[in-house]
Amino acid sequence: MSDISNIVQKQKDLFRAGKTMTYTYRIHQLQKLQEMLNRYEPRIYESLHKDLNKSSYEVLTTEFGFLQQEINYTIKYLREWMQPKKVKTPTSHKGAKSLIYKQPYGVTLIISPWNYPLHLALAPLIGAIAAGNTAIIKPSELTPYTSDLIEEMIEDTFEEKYITVVQGDAEISQQLLEEPFDYIFFTGSVPVGKIVMEKASKQLIPVTLELGGKSPCIVDRDAKIEYTAKRIVWGKFVNAGQTCVAPDYLLIQESIKQKLLDQIKIEVEKMYGENPLQSGEYTKIVNDKHFDRITNYLDEGNIIYGGETDRTNRLINPTLIDNIDWNSKIMQDEIFGPLLPIMTFNKLDEVYDHVEHSRNPLALYYFSENEKNQEWIVKNLSFGGGCINDTMMHLGNNQLPFGGIGTSGIGKYHGKHSFETFTHEKSILKQTTAFDLAFRYPNSKMGRKIIKKLFK
Ligand code: NAD
Repeated sequence: MSDISNIVQKQKDLFRAGKTMTYTYRIHQLQKLQEMLNRYEPRIYESLHKDLNKSSYEVLTTEFGFLQQEINYTIKYLREWMQPKKVKTPTSHKGAKSLIYKQPYGVTLIISPWNYPLHLALAPLIGAIAAGNTAIIKPSELTPYTSDLIEEMIEDTFEEKYITVVQGDAEISQQLLEEPFDYIFFTGSVPVGKIVMEKASKQLIPVTLELGGKSPCIVDRDAKIEYTAKRIVWGKFVNAGQTCVAPDYLLIQESIKQKLLDQIKIEVEKMYGENPLQSGEYTKIVNDKHFDRITNYLDEGNIIYGGETDRTNRLINPTLIDNIDWNSKIMQDEIFGPLLPIMTFNKLDEVYDHVEHSRNPLALYYFSENEKNQEWIVKNLSFGGGCINDTMMHLGNNQLPFGGIGTSGIGKYHGKHSFETFTHEKSILKQTTAFDLAFRYPNSKMGRKIIKKLFK
């Protein structure tokens, strides 16, 4: 038996022994996870800085703080979520009670990417623990300091037979996908998402796929320019654009184009200074391959702001690129970097075709004061989720399920939705033995008449 199969088997045994089923056990594990984060806080900042040059402010807001909030919230409501839910029972089932039990899946696999390497490995884990599962985490090989730290923290906090980390690249990931997991939670790119789903389908393992895509940011003629520019700059350039829900491209109503772009330039300088490359506080591109992929986009269109790069330190200044259309290289794939291509529209319904070019984006942002138009966008365009008059903030509200649609993903999580994702809802009908209703049996004299009446 391979090492991986061995761990999976040990976790299956632990799950089967029923250890993870109680509320007390789960709460205790969540508390341990919380203490673990606190204990390792300085090293978390350190490793994310080494891997991605993330500033402490970005680590706090997008990684550490997010996880703390999720754990606190889960601890507060777990007892309530775990309760079987009583639901109505139809008259045809007189005497019976109907209940939905919350059953953990069992042994789960969490595969995570490099862009928020701590957040995206541990946020699903919170759901897995809360729902009573065991877990194997496969963090990204592209952020080695953080992945090593995740392994060290988890080893120091949990038993291998409950939660463990298996490190490695695509090959290890593929080996893991051969195992008989009970649930797979994958965050990453669309092509790898397809591989994961294909592998999972061989054993009919349920999956959540949190993927990416090209998320549009649409700014209409009546948008409030200053706030719009500020919120776009923040959403696009945080983590140097390496965010699954970052605005990928701008669609600006023609009449306000110049005004908005002027303001965006002002806001970039306010947030990052005149030359972010030298600020020491600006996130770097994860590796040379991604650096080259992103800078390769710079030879098309008109760079109207930024464009400076530093290959040694893998930094790319916030960049605005005009004269782009759907044939441009930059519009073929998710950019995942600090380049913002600009296109325009005249009438709002033109945006429909733009959005259809990269179908079902993970996020969409629309800036306008017009409520009718806001409703039109929300109702007529297909996307995972998004904001009106903001970018990315929908992720920060754990009442809102986070996930994609179609090519941007399957399933959802955050807050209670994470618990639900890792839980099977088991329907149980508890029948009375005090009496029996004869009409359901084929020899019942009045059966046909009663059933017809009941089903009306
Ligand atoms: P990726 O798909 O290359 O890798 C993700 C994980 O899959 C890593 O752990 C990697 O080792 C593993 N992997 C890579 N190739 C594999 C293969 N052939 N078989 C099995 N496993 C494999 O993604 P990435 O580059 O790490 O992350 C960037 C992507 O993730 C972007 O597309 C981004 O939009 C997406 N993303 C989505 C979300 C979300 O919540 N929806 C969040 C962050 C990132």
